Amino acid sequence: MTGPDVLVSRVHHPVTVLGPGRRAGIWFQGCTIRCAGCVAVDTWRADPGTAVPVAEVIGWLESIPEAQLDGVTVSGGEPTDQPDALAAVLAGVEALRRRRGGDPFDVLVFSGREPEWVEGLGRHLFTGADAVMAGPYVEALAGTSLLRGSDNQRLVPLTDLGTHRFTDDRLPPRQRLQVEADDEGLWMMGIPLPGVMAGLVRGAHDAGLVLRGRSWST
Ligand code: SF4
Repeated sequence: MTGPDVLVSRVHHPVTVLGPGRRAGIWFQGCTIRCAGCVAVDTWRADPGTAVPVAEVIGWLESIPEAQLDGVTVSGGEPTDQPDALAAVLAGVEALRRRRGGDPFDVLVFSGREPEWVEGLGRHLFTGADAVMAGPYVEALAGTSLLRGSDNQRLVPLTDLGTHRFTDDRLPPRQRLQVEADDEGLWMMGIPLPGVMAGLVRGAHDAGLVLRGRSWST
């Protein structure tokens, strides 16, 4: 398989906080939207050193056993900042879905673009996705809605599967975060409720932990 490279912040499986079931997460690197209060500032810089062939990402996805893959979540960074790579990733995911047959896994994309743009001018960029959680993060509208960092964000279903899978009763609760450790430190998946990150810093300090840096802006 040939195709463009993609700037990738990380990939992970299983992800259980960004959609229903056990999911594969693909985080794009690079975001030009730059919302105030973003919890993923480390994904803003379009670092060429993070480039990997799309085929490698799809190969990783293919290595996940069928029974352990309920969905794929593409996030970032801002996936639409890399339109060719996004198209190639979604096409590769779609091809895998066709090869596997059976119970289809769903594909959810998080984008900071406005929902109206996702439904209109940008719609072609999401071919192969079942739903897009769309809209920039707006600190003043930070709320508690499922899968949303702020209440201006809106789920845009693109297929029947997307409409079915992303009903509220299938979604993980917002208070759940997933924390993993690697050689570079701790990293967190999920959409924190307002105040959680500040509380985490206070809790770490009270417990005598020294945080050498953090990837969120507030
Ligand atoms: S919330 Fe998303 S769109 Fe907004 S700056 Fe962060 S990564 Fe970019």
